[in-house]
Amino acid sequence: AGATDAIRALVRTIPDFPRPGIQFRDISTLFLDRDGLAATVDALAATVTGPVDLVAAIEARGFAIGGALSVRLNAGLLLVRKDGKLPGATIAEDYALEYGRDRLAMHVDACAPGARVLIVDDLLATGGTALAAVRLVQRAGGKVVGARFVIDLPGLGGGRALDEAGIDVVSLLAYE
Ligand code: IMP
Repeated sequence: AGATDAIRALVRTIPDFPRPGIQFRDISTLFLDRDGLAATVDALAATVTGPVDLVAAIEARGFAIGGALSVRLNAGLLLVRKDGKLPGATIAEDYALEYGRDRLAMHVDACAPGARVLIVDDLLATGGTALAAVRLVQRAGGKVVGARFVIDLPGLGGGRALDEAGIDVVSLLAYE
């Protein structure tokens, strides 16, 4: 609980970003703090019990957390990017945003069949983004062993959605 409180104290809330009425949880301030960053990676690593072959990190803030966590877990790093950014042959999945849709992609050959893959992002809201990443990894033949987030917004239902999809999900902090 001590570590979690210290991490929470480093998250900044910016009102009305990116739109009026949204309380944006800003973890850039957590990233800037050497002890907070290390505590975050340690706390996430402590929630992982089984072997992980690849950390699948979601662009862009997920890259920062996922990159550090992959080294800590002795796993490789799989980049899940916005469509159109990856140079090789890709597979893509659409997902719903509050207004409209977006598309995530990964290299089609990024994940060996049967590889144990941990999905990582900074924040879980509706779960649409994370579930698109889950579908990508599964289509590529990977086995999703879990999903990890620094922050969960439980009111938006992402934890339940991942749970219903059979994904082991853990977040360090919840914001109502
Ligand atoms: P979801 O698809 O609704 O679960 O939204 C999660 C995605 O939106 C993640 O990639 C987050 O980085 C981003 N996101 C949504 N709200 C926030 C926020 O308050 N702070 C930081 N990222 C957010």
